Amino acid sequence: MSAELEELERALEGELEWIRARRTKAGWPEVQARLGMEKKPIAFGGVTPEHVRAAVRLLARNAALRLEELQHRVERARASALWDRLARLADEEAERHRQASGARLGQVFANAAENVDFWKSQWDGAKNVLVLLCKTCGAPQERTRDYRCGYCGGELFRRQEEEP
Ligand SMILES: [Zn+2]
Repeated sequence: MSAELEELERALEGELEWIRARRTKAGWPEVQARLGMEKKPIAFGGVTPEHVRAAVRLLARNAALRLEELQHRVERARASALWDRLARLADEEAERHRQASGARLGQVFANAAENVDFWKSQWDGAKNVLVLLCKTCGAPQERTRDYRCGYCGGELFRRQEEEP
């Protein structure tokens, strides 16, 4: 059954490569169209880390929808590792784009909770911190009191290890 998980991981890598190849003014509208995003024109400065973050959140959400379906059929540790990856993916891709485009730090992160270093420290420091994704907007959230997204109010995904 792990073939399903491998297929999902492979598809995700392919989608990421597809997006990375379109981080230009000319290419980005294709990304917006494919992910069903509002088509906002790209300003003079080009594709920003925020553009990348918004797109990859949706990509991660789409992958999470599939992971939610198959998580009960695969090894729990592997499903958990992919949940972690999906929760970090948008921040990591935004940071990758920032470095590639030479944008200044400080333009990238809207708040401390979206800083890659923040998430990394969460993972390194406390293994049991669960970060979930919003089913609507794909935003990552540390699980606290409830399963509602702090950004859009959408429902959060539930990992297998979170279920009673
Ligand atoms: Zn949300």
